[in-house]
Amino acid sequence: MRGAPTRTGSALAAGLAAALLAGSPTAGAEPAAPLASEIVSRQWCKSVGDRLFSVSTSFCERSRLRPSPSTSIEGRALMRLEQPPRLPRRSASIDADTRAPRIMMIGGIHGDELTSVSIVFRWMERLERPDASELHWLVIPLANPDGMLSSPARRVNARGVDLNRNFDTPDWSEQAMNHWIARARRDPRRFPGEAPVSEPETRWLQQEIARFRPDVIVSIHAPYGVLDFDGPAEEPKRFGRLRLNRLGVYPGSLGNYGGIHKGVPVITIELPHATRMPSLRDQEAIWQDMIKWIRQNFVPVNLG
Ligand SMILES: [Zn+2]
Repeated sequence: MRGAPTRTGSALAAGLAAALLAGSPTAGAEPAAPLASEIVSRQWCKSVGDRLFSVSTSFCERSRLRPSPSTSIEGRALMRLEQPPRLPRRSASIDADTRAPRIMMIGGIHGDELTSVSIVFRWMERLERPDASELHWLVIPLANPDGMLSSPARRVNARGVDLNRNFDTPDWSEQAMNHWIARARRDPRRFPGEAPVSEPETRWLQQEIARFRPDVIVSIHAPYGVLDFDGPAEEPKRFGRLRLNRLGVYPGSLGNYGGIHKGVPVITIELPHATRMPSLRDQEAIWQDMIKWIRQNFVPVNLG
């Protein structure tokens, strides 16, 4: 299934171009046409709502996600939500000089791990709580929209690349292809691409890491039911029922790129099932332990 973009993809790309044209602001236009970004967001939320049992289109539309300037291979929007911190009231001067911990949360790098996308939507509802709202968030619920929205959903992107083997790690050129041939036995689900960061989705994630400068990256997968951790920080022992169990370091993985190469701690949350959500109680337990771990290990820094 590795090949050229599908017809749906071309149609989508054309639709996106039309939406961008239609949305260009016209002085004095009445009534105001929806902005291009709103049209793109609605189209994206409709597709995601149709695919995910636990996420409705209307909930997605209310989620404040906005398209980035980058798109997937098939022209789908790469959506994100950035929520700056709401610091507790002190004096204005202290607030202005305080850098809150920055958390980047990513779901759906693998398109067939549907729960990894749904749970990010569930957790986005919790960002307004006091303990979470003091943090600076960058949330990307679906890093591989072409994979998740193809029929059936696929782990890889539209060019058949495993995005979690495509990050630009120093060992990529020497090891990624060898690893794929010898260890992954040319499994097409684990193809690392022809070159490091060859895919627009990986390029975009790396750009977002460089721009946002997260203190910690939380990357969500399924179905191994464990926590994994790479990088400099006190490792978390358990979030809810998920216990630390290191899965190994792979050439081109996000844990390798962020945790080892860039020095940004990367927590990988492996949910127990790819298509069945954890119970509400387990969703809450994982979230609470994660926030507690973040707040213990990363504190606001006064830059003044
Ligand atoms: Zn995965």
